[in-house]
Amino acid sequence: MDGISRVLTGTRTTGELHLGHYVGALKLWLDAQRSDSDCFFLLADVQALTTHADRPELIRKSVRDVVLDWLAVGLDPTLPNVHFVLQSGVKARFELSQYFLMIANLTEIRRNPTVKAEMKGVRYPTMGFLTYVVDQAADIYMLSPLNVGGNELMVPVGADQVPHLEYSRKLARRFNKAYETNVFRPCTAKVGEVGRLVGIDGQEKMSKSKGNAINLSDSAEEVTRKIMGMYTDPNRLRATDPGTVEGNPLFTYFDAFATDRAEVDEYKRLYQLGQIGDVPLKRRLAVIVNEILGPMRERRLKAESMKLGEIVQEGTFAASIIAEEVVTRAKEAMFVGFPE
Ligand code: ATP
Ligand code: MG
Repeated sequence: MDGISRVLTGTRTTGELHLGHYVGALKLWLDAQRSDSDCFFLLADVQALTTHADRPELIRKSVRDVVLDWLAVGLDPTLPNVHFVLQSGVKARFELSQYFLMIANLTEIRRNPTVKAEMKGVRYPTMGFLTYVVDQAADIYMLSPLNVGGNELMVPVGADQVPHLEYSRKLARRFNKAYETNVFRPCTAKVGEVGRLVGIDGQEKMSKSKGNAINLSDSAEEVTRKIMGMYTDPNRLRATDPGTVEGNPLFTYFDAFATDRAEVDEYKRLYQLGQIGDVPLKRRLAVIVNEILGPMRERRLKAESMKLGEIVQEGTFAASIIAEEVVTRAKEAMFVGFPE
């Protein structure tokens, strides 16, 4: 990651994390933490409120659950370059968000394809929901690398976030141009190998809110139960019928989680010929997924006795120091404040 000085990314604290987060986001985060970049992982408790303000108990529980999930996958905040940041704890980001709102326009937000898709699931969109894309730009650019080596801010995300990242860049460029400054340095999205993992019900996205997820904290039995019941090829009635591999979640999962490519190719061949049933394949997939989740279960047990509050406090403080300076510079550029 040459030239990348900072990495910022996050999770909404709306529930437990699942396999989609793992392949779509967290694997990239693990790569980032192994690099020289300073990594800021955001517990997006404010963004969670944009759709879940009526569920305070869920938010309360989820902040801790997400930290445990992060520790379980192997993120390590004891490394000097890794920070867990509580979004609501960084005061300067609220200021920056307000300034970005002044240069964002409603039409461009309405055109955002991810917002459009999410809007369908929200019965009464709040003002916070309508503007969350702008607010997210503040989360990113509060860490604009002003004084450090390397000039790039990298944002590893799932595919649904790409339009948001493009929009953040647009706002930053607009700001820099309008106020003749370079306070906001370029940010780059990075999408993992699996940008969008399908749900076990075949829906296009495994999601916390859709009940179609295999959680990282599920027990081995639960994982097996979910996989045995997962959606495959609806047109295949018997194991001897030729099956479809393309778009079949069973094979999407094999591709995402199996390490032995030759094994997966052989399953695909047999499936298409009608020479292997769903049941043995699902059993095998459950073993593969449980092999990945096993070490996570062990790390989670250890994490439960760690001082999680202190970890989050340290990371939030580190981000706040940077954000304060960026906001001061942004305000100067905008001539906000009493004139000299
Ligand atoms: P919610 O439904 O509450 O928005 P979510 O499952 O979309 O929850 P987020 O916290 O919004 O989770 O997303 C965290 C990160 O994980 C983002 O980068 C997002 O793109 C990625 N991500 C979420 N679901 C998937 C998925 N099914 N496949 C790949 N990446 C995903
Ligand atoms: Mg989401």
